[in-house]
Amino acid sequence: MPSPKKHKKIREPMSALNKVKLIENHEPLVDVRKACPGTRVSRRCVPYLRETVADMVNNAQTLLPSGYTFWVRTALRTIEMQRDGYLNFYRALETEHPDWSYATLRRRTNQYFAPVDEKAPPGHTTGGAVDVGLITPSGRPAELTRPYEFWEGAATFIEGLTPAARRNRMTLYEAMMGAGFSNCEDEFWHYSYGDAAWAVRTGVDTCCYGLIEPPGEWLERRPDLKHKLNLNRR
Ligand SMILES: [Zn+2]
Repeated sequence: MPSPKKHKKIREPMSALNKVKLIENHEPLVDVRKACPGTRVSRRCVPYLRETVADMVNNAQTLLPSGYTFWVRTALRTIEMQRDGYLNFYRALETEHPDWSYATLRRRTNQYFAPVDEKAPPGHTTGGAVDVGLITPSGRPAELTRPYEFWEGAATFIEGLTPAARRNRMTLYEAMMGAGFSNCEDEFWHYSYGDAAWAVRTGVDTCCYGLIEPPGEWLERRPDLKHKLNLNRR
């Protein structure tokens, strides 16, 4: 297990992500609810991942201690959902820090929400990224952030976690990394394979997943999210 003190953070600046060459492999999306039957999937999640990525979640699941399961919180996002999330985070930071410059606000937002106006598409819009939590054998969400509030404790290797939070977080990390995922070290819950950020984290110069839309039949079944998906655009 990497110790929080010794771990050297992997950086993934936008400039590096934009240099990664995309060679799209056109792998299809699969429905996580069917493809990963051992996991819990959030109701509001757009439940699609590339086929290989869903297989990797299943492999990671086999590496968890007996009785534990993954909780898929976010899988696919449309570019409109990504833009909404980015703007909401940016505005919250701006309200909290009215003295920060545009460049600072943008850099800090980019740390947690990939921007939609850069060459590299955000991981969640490619079907290659997934946000996961952990469910204990009793069926409850595992403690992963205490004593911090959620965002305060986001960095994977932050110091000062309670022993239980550290243990659960490393259980999650080791299972996902063991299955071949890469982790965004600003967010202990965010893992990806095949997107530009994965390429930067693993030191390769090409990636295989670019922007992809959810299947049309899913959009028809979720009228509550239609406003987020800008269905009227041409
Ligand atoms: Zn994420």
